[in-house]
Amino acid sequence: TSETPKDFIRQIIANDQASGKHGGKVVTRFPPEPNGFLHIGHAKSICLNFGVAAENGGSTFLRFDDTNPGKEREEYVQAIMDDVRWLGFDWGENLSHASDHFERLYEVAESLIRSGDAYVDSLSADEIREYRGTLKSPGKDSPHRSRGVEENLDLFRRMRAGEFADGEHVLRAKIDMASPNINLRDPTLYRIRHLNHQRTGDQWCIYPMYDFAHGLSDAFEGITHSLCTLEFEDHRPLYDWLLDKLAPERRPQQIEFSRLNLAYALTSKRKLNQLVEDNIVSGWNDPRVASLAGMRRRGYPPAAVRDFIKRVGVTKKENLIEMALLENSIREQLGEEAERRMAVMKPLKLVLTNYAEGRVENLEAMNHPNRPELGTRTVPFGREIYIEQDDFMEDAPRKFFRLKPGGEVRLRSAYIIRCDDVIKDSSGNVVELHCTYDEDTRSGTGSSDRKVKGTIHWVSAQHAVTAEVRLYDRLFTVAEPGSAEDLHAVLNPTSLEVVSAKLEPSLADVPGGSSFQFERLGYFCPDSVDHSATAPVFNRIVTLRDGWAK
Ligand code: ATP
Ligand code: MG
Ligand code: MG
Repeated sequence: TSETPKDFIRQIIANDQASGKHGGKVVTRFPPEPNGFLHIGHAKSICLNFGVAAENGGSTFLRFDDTNPGKEREEYVQAIMDDVRWLGFDWGENLSHASDHFERLYEVAESLIRSGDAYVDSLSADEIREYRGTLKSPGKDSPHRSRGVEENLDLFRRMRAGEFADGEHVLRAKIDMASPNINLRDPTLYRIRHLNHQRTGDQWCIYPMYDFAHGLSDAFEGITHSLCTLEFEDHRPLYDWLLDKLAPERRPQQIEFSRLNLAYALTSKRKLNQLVEDNIVSGWNDPRVASLAGMRRRGYPPAAVRDFIKRVGVTKKENLIEMALLENSIREQLGEEAERRMAVMKPLKLVLTNYAEGRVENLEAMNHPNRPELGTRTVPFGREIYIEQDDFMEDAPRKFFRLKPGGEVRLRSAYIIRCDDVIKDSSGNVVELHCTYDEDTRSGTGSSDRKVKGTIHWVSAQHAVTAEVRLYDRLFTVAEPGSAEDLHAVLNPTSLEVVSAKLEPSLADVPGGSSFQFERLGYFCPDSVDHSATAPVFNRIVTLRDGWAK
């Protein structure tokens, strides 16, 4: 809304709109490299690019930056499209690939050669690095820098024709080997790679470098605001140099913002790749991974992820965002939309000795405490039920308001019960509780107005559905696993706990994509890969309260 304070990028765009700088247009792009799945960091870039365009009646390209055929795969292209759609954004007709522009980029490269602004260099990669100099010392000219236009054109065409091996030559821009900005010391524009490309096949054996392909693709597509992360700040002079030379009439502007870093999570495709390759997690979509695919499978609502990104904001300041902020957005969203159910994670059998054998009642329970429009459901109740082991304590402190010997508690949506007997096995473990219920205290209809301090959840033993429930915790023991030398050394050994839980029967057959609050426990969803009605598998999305603060 107009009330929301604008971040610095939205402010720049508002000013550009007011001055008519880009003819009143806003066209952005989200340019992932298809060398892995998207992660929560990318969500920031997606929400920003699609968000500012939509707010200004503009459009956004989804552009695959596929200039590195060795590391890129079609499988990732598909996954990235799924993830962007899941997050709630639509690029419409504006799907592109850097490789769509290969022919045009090649022509532009030839024109740079013709204008004397590019040359073919035949130094080795090591020599090029050495000649480039350091921050403190200027670089020196390659002996090939003074090659004539005809010789350069001939060599470049032969590079394209496949006459040379990888690394034999490169095409470089002729800018300034003494520039204080190393990116301007004759950056490489093209290199030879005899590699099959996932889209262009064997059509090319020379591939453009990112900086060359990126800025020009922006110009070709009519991008007005090219929003990228801060590590590209030093590349902006090169971006501007190329566009001044090659597309002065179309001047996209590059604006940098800080990356999103999330505590206890990895936000680097390369490191996420390692998690998968080392079998630390079950795959890219493991629910403990901060990939968008992992978050989707974990049951994070996309609206909550967008809300989180909005709260993080857009600045130029590097920062590490607490996981609690993301989880709060998720709790807020699910608290509003998720229906309530009952489930017991660590079951303890409880027998109501004064409840008739074989008797079953169908009790009515609210689906949501403050959204009556979501209605009610029936929950079967009988003589034998399960409660949580943790809701009983034999030697309970005075303030323990759950069940203890001789104590009373209310069973949610049912009756007040009293614990009469504790049954133990030969090693002294509590295996069963014998209780009595008070018929007059039935929730909603009971004639008694008796009150007790505690209310606990339960499931009818006869009707319970047994399910595998996966309880997730943070994957790492350190806030910045990305800077750990060895990922294996900072893994949380209990990031996944699997329990055999008892669920109320209505949970057996729930639609994929649904999520529920299991009363008093947290939010849960059926696992999109492993769940079935006959073998239910649920994921814990998030606990009810913040368990991250130590
Ligand atoms: P990674 O290091 O994970 O491979 P990347 O920047 O190389 O990330 P790209 O596929 O090139 O990944 O990213 C596409 C877009 O997303 C880029 O514009 C990039 O700046 C942006 N992006 C990537 N990571 C983050 C992040 N952590 N926060 C914000 N934007 C990001
Ligand atoms: Mg990149
Ligand atoms: Mg990368």
